[in-house]
Amino acid sequence: MSNVKGKVVVITGASSGIGEAVARLLSQHGAHVIIGARRVERLEELASSIRSEGGSVEYQPLDVTRLEEMQAIVDRARNHYGHVDVIINNAGVMPLSPLGALKIDEWNRMIDVNIRGVLHGIAAGLPIMKQQGFGQFINIASIGAYVVSPTAAVYCATKYAVRAISEGLRQEVGGDIRVTLVSPGVTESELADTISDEEARDLMKEYRNISIPASAIAQSILYAINQPAEVDVNEIVVRPTASIA
Ligand code: NDP
Repeated sequence: MSNVKGKVVVITGASSGIGEAVARLLSQHGAHVIIGARRVERLEELASSIRSEGGSVEYQPLDVTRLEEMQAIVDRARNHYGHVDVIINNAGVMPLSPLGALKIDEWNRMIDVNIRGVLHGIAAGLPIMKQQGFGQFINIASIGAYVVSPTAAVYCATKYAVRAISEGLRQEVGGDIRVTLVSPGVTESELADTISDEEARDLMKEYRNISIPASAIAQSILYAINQPAEVDVNEIVVRPTASIA
């Protein structure tokens, strides 16, 4: 039996990669997906593709670093459907570089999108979920939330933070609200396109050869949502079989 059909699911960073795959899969299983990201033309294309397959989708421009935009997309979901079942805090950036390169703007961008963006998703959704007495946050971390490697110190720090925030949230709101952390290993997406450091970019090309499709991560999210309300899947790590890190 599907526990996904009819659920109202807000997905951040749905214009490519994992977010896009999740929107497609959940809508195929009967969820109402509300998708956000900054590249609106990509959202538009995705929405019309989902609709052409009979899926239910709304889209809205979203910069997760702006609390008011995060609030607006969550409010839109609630106003349209009367409640919000799931918020997937997926938007993220990964401009890797050695700390010595002092790419301070990129450090700040990772902190803003990867940490503040998740906190904004929680801030926008938690009061609604508390009021309605149910809900689920799915926060996308990374295997970088468990291990650190050169050029990835700040990125990993942001993902360790997402893991800590998710565990803290779970302890505080468990009972009514479910909290799931999904940590992908290397996955096909546009994530590595944000790397401006040449050395880090070359390293990544090699590292990403074994990438698994974004649909593999989407399947794990479907699994977590699909469980009965009293079952809270807290952490899932999905990595390529060939991965050693
Ligand atoms: P993509 O680059 O393909 O997708 C990232 C998404 O985040 C895009 O839709 C982008 O949309 C969105 N985004 C970036 N900045 C913002 C912002 N300020 N506001 C709103 N949306 C934003 O990469 P992935 O699909 O791989 O990334 C999804 C998540 O998975 C990230 O959190 C990433 O860290 C995590 N992850 C990915 C792994 C991988 O190997 N692919 C491994 C481990 C974790 P737009 O630019 O249109 O705003």
